[in-house]
Parts: sequence; C-alpha cells; structure tokens
Amino acid sequence: MVDYNQVLKEIHEEVTPVLSQGRVADYIPKLASVPADKFGMAVHTLDGDIYTTGDARENFSIQSISKVYTLTLAMTYIGEEKLLARVGREPSGTPFNSLVQLEYENGIPRNPFINAGALVLVDIILSHCRDAADTIRSFVRERADNPNIDFDPEVAASEKDTGFRNAAMANFLKSYGNLHNPVEAVLDTYYHQCALRMNCIDLAKSVMFLANHGVSPWSGKQILTRSQAKRINSLLLTCGTYDAVGDFAYRVGLPGKSGVGGGIAALIPEKLSVSVWAPGLNPNGNSLAGTLALELFTTKTGMSIF
Ligand code: GLU
Repeated sequence: MVDYNQVLKEIHEEVTPVLSQGRVADYIPKLASVPADKFGMAVHTLDGDIYTTGDARENFSIQSISKVYTLTLAMTYIGEEKLLARVGREPSGTPFNSLVQLEYENGIPRNPFINAGALVLVDIILSHCRDAADTIRSFVRERADNPNIDFDPEVAASEKDTGFRNAAMANFLKSYGNLHNPVEAVLDTYYHQCALRMNCIDLAKSVMFLANHGVSPWSGKQILTRSQAKRINSLLLTCGTYDAVGDFAYRVGLPGKSGVGGGIAALIPEKLSVSVWAPGLNPNGNSLAGTLALELFTTKTGMSIF
C-alpha cells in the first residue's frame, strides 16, 4: 500500500528548491503576475480517495490542458476516423504554435495538441452545438464534478489581444478548407477554453474517466468507448507535453497534458490520476518543478504505465 500523503510530502520538500528556476509565462499580464513559488499537487485514486499537498485548492489558468476535453468532445461528435482525416497523430517536434509544418503538410495539423490541431477540434465542436464555449465549460464541470469552474474573462480577453499567431494559424487552416466555421468564432472559443480556471483537485478528477477506460468512476457515465480512451491516452503520451514528449515519457512514464499556466494532468489507467501546478516553465513550456514532481511520484511509488 502506497502512503500517498508521505509521498506527496516528500515531493513537495524536494521540489521547493527548484520552484524559482522555471520561467513563468509572460505573454499576458495575468499569467506573468502569478508567483513562481506556488506549488500544488493532487492524487485521485480509482476508489475515490484524494490526496493533496501545497496549493492544490488554488485556481490557475489551465491553458492547453483544456485540449484534452476538446479532443474528447470532438471524438464523441465525429468518431476517430473522421477526426484523423483532419488532424494527425504524430508528435510534431516543433513548438506548439509553429506555423511551418502546417504549410508543407497541407493544412493538416500533426496532432490534436498543437495549437493548429486544437483549433480544428474547436471547429468540430462548433459544428455540433450552438454554444461551443458553454458546451466545453459544462463538460469540464461535469468531469470535475464542480459546477463552479469557469473561464477567467481577463485571460480570455488577453489571449485575444495577443493571439496574432493563433489568428494566423486559424486563417491558414481556413485557406486549406480545414475550418468549416468562421475564423473569429473558432478563435473566440479557443481563447475561452485556454482561460478555464481550475485547481489541482478539479484537474485530477476531470481526467479520471481516462484512467477508467472512458467511464466516469463516480457517475458510471460512459464518456468514451474503451478503445477511444486508449487512443486519447496514447496521444497524451506521444504528443501531450509539447516538443519535450520524449523527455517527459522517459522521466515520468505517464500519459499527460501540460499547459503554459504551469499545470500538468497525468494518469495511470486502472489506478489513479495525478495533477500538479508549479508556474515556472522549462524552455519547452512544461512546468519545470511539475515535471520533476511527477518524475519523483513515479519513482517513489514505483508506478507508471510501464
Ligand atoms: N493560450 C496560449 C496559446 O494558445 C498557450 C496555450 C498553451 O500551450 O498552454 O498560445
């Protein structure tokens, strides 16, 4: 039996000296002002037990972690095959917001987790519901079992004010016929999903269905088929942590998704989900102390997917 409280306590102590070594995202003021010494972590087991340390109850901007939810929604709307005709499934090896690859691959994003891929996911959701942002928020609230989860309007507005590259990417996708809805609507929804505010407990809870073969463990609701859940976990392992997926898989050994707000959500099928928040990032955009914390977690517990 793993003593999760003890494991989390040790991890917290060991990562504290490196919290100041990462660089907090500074492309918008609201992210730049988050103190670099924040650290939170939560473990949610399949039995429903929750273990936490540090600032695990403090909300932060989940940013790209939201792409896990939009991928799930898009997959439920159109199925894997149609989805894969519009978005690939290979690691990109380029920064998340790179435009270069998109041109020589004819407007088909390498994977759903780079920004170009995420914009296509939003487009699919927009084609299937009246209010895409509201649909995404409701989905997240249900998955995390927390009706209070919401967008941070200030972050959404700043994303829009600074989103020149995302706008270029959306227009580029549109020119290749890989966006079916108006560029403005796609971007607005994307900025809102990036601006979702959640804490580590919400985050760990929200991905539990991926640790349970697509079924929400507390409601019994089937969110994805078993095969779809496997596919999303595979994509998380190979594409979920920017162009440092190799390093992350090597050190941590778990499928996971990071965001530039410093959060990471990861999971072990049939066992647990684990989330971490430490705002200082490494040069690839992954939380520096967060990656270390997850590496320590799999090392100390002896658990990973391998
Ligand atoms: N919202 C930012 C963007 O789309 C960052 C997303 C992220 O990678 O966490 O440029």
